[in-house]
Amino acid sequence: MKPFVKPIYVTQPLLPDLGVFNKELSDTWRYHWFTNQGPKVKKLENILATRLKVQNLLLFNNGTIALLAAIKSLNLSGEVITTPFTFPATPHVLTWNNVTPVFCDIDPYTMNIDVNKIEKMITKKTSAILAVHVFGIPCDVEKIQQIAKKHNLKVIYDAAHAFEVEINGSGIGNLGDITMFSFHATKLFHTAEGGALSFKNKLLKNQLYLLQNFGIANELEVRLPGINGKMNEIQAILGLAVLRTIKRERIRRKKIKKLYIKFLKETAGIRFYEDKLHIKSSYQYLPIRINEKEFGRSRNYVYKKLKEYNIFTRRYFYPLCSEYPYYKILRSSSPKNLPVAHQVVQEVLCLPFYGNLSDADVEKICTILQSLQE
Ligand SMILES: *Cc1c(COP(=O)(O)O)cnc(C)c1O
Repeated sequence: MKPFVKPIYVTQPLLPDLGVFNKELSDTWRYHWFTNQGPKVKKLENILATRLKVQNLLLFNNGTIALLAAIKSLNLSGEVITTPFTFPATPHVLTWNNVTPVFCDIDPYTMNIDVNKIEKMITKKTSAILAVHVFGIPCDVEKIQQIAKKHNLKVIYDAAHAFEVEINGSGIGNLGDITMFSFHATKLFHTAEGGALSFKNKLLKNQLYLLQNFGIANELEVRLPGINGKMNEIQAILGLAVLRTIKRERIRRKKIKKLYIKFLKETAGIRFYEDKLHIKSSYQYLPIRINEKEFGRSRNYVYKKLKEYNIFTRRYFYPLCSEYPYYKILRSSSPKNLPVAHQVVQEVLCLPFYGNLSDADVEKICTILQSLQE
């Protein structure tokens, strides 16, 4: 099999219709209004609150700043229990808030924080649980709620991969105290850079709004040491245009996932996370697990070999956050505490997954992958 002529990446940012984008943009030229809660940000905020089925939503300039503000608004201190199998932003926002991340092992199937191992990580210093719906797969949210209630802990969800995920028809952003969404260009729905927080407690809105706008309450009063976390009008306009393409993109991605499964389901040592009936999937990533013993080759071997064919998959989230030099010194980072995470992070490979992949591309990727087998 010959390599692909053009490189195939793990994803491709959605490009909206340029006409739609320009039309929205022309309003901004008339208003002379680029940022500070402009009309386009308000419009996108309203539409997204409906689409995500949440009561309160606040847009931010990126997901990391949103999560940073979320932690700040809840006044968390001491330790927060989180997962090592995530993007660096998740533990970093804790560190920026002078909170120590405590890494808890993950579930071998969902790859999310293992709810059966959370309680033994709780100490007198624990103030919250920061869980991630990794690859858009929902955490065991009921058990997390139970544990939080029993120990009087706050719950924050990093739903960066979980745009429009629903459990039994309810938006994923309705869970815990605050949920963060990321609208980075590599995410399914994007505003180039961007993010949002959703939350049930209406009282949080003012606090979060102050935190994202330097703490400015009015012309004369700066109430708290806030940051600049505002989404601007150009980001919102891009979002409004991209939003129109999501439905079509998701239908295409669903088809692509079916094709991957069809071509690879007989291959020993390759497993998919199958869609569940009661969960609306984000179709953000297509992670597979490669079992070295059964497949005959390691995930790392496959990753490197695919590059020779111009196929650039991603080993998310390798290395684990607990392996970064800055976090490795933490007691919870000991590999003995995280056996499942260390296993899973050697197995996961995210395959190219975006609407512009043709059926033939998918078939070729699968054929190449199978040809690597011992
Ligand atoms: C993308 C991502 C973030 C950060 O979002 P940005 O909008 O890029 O700041 C946080 N957590 C996870 C799990 C992510 O994948």
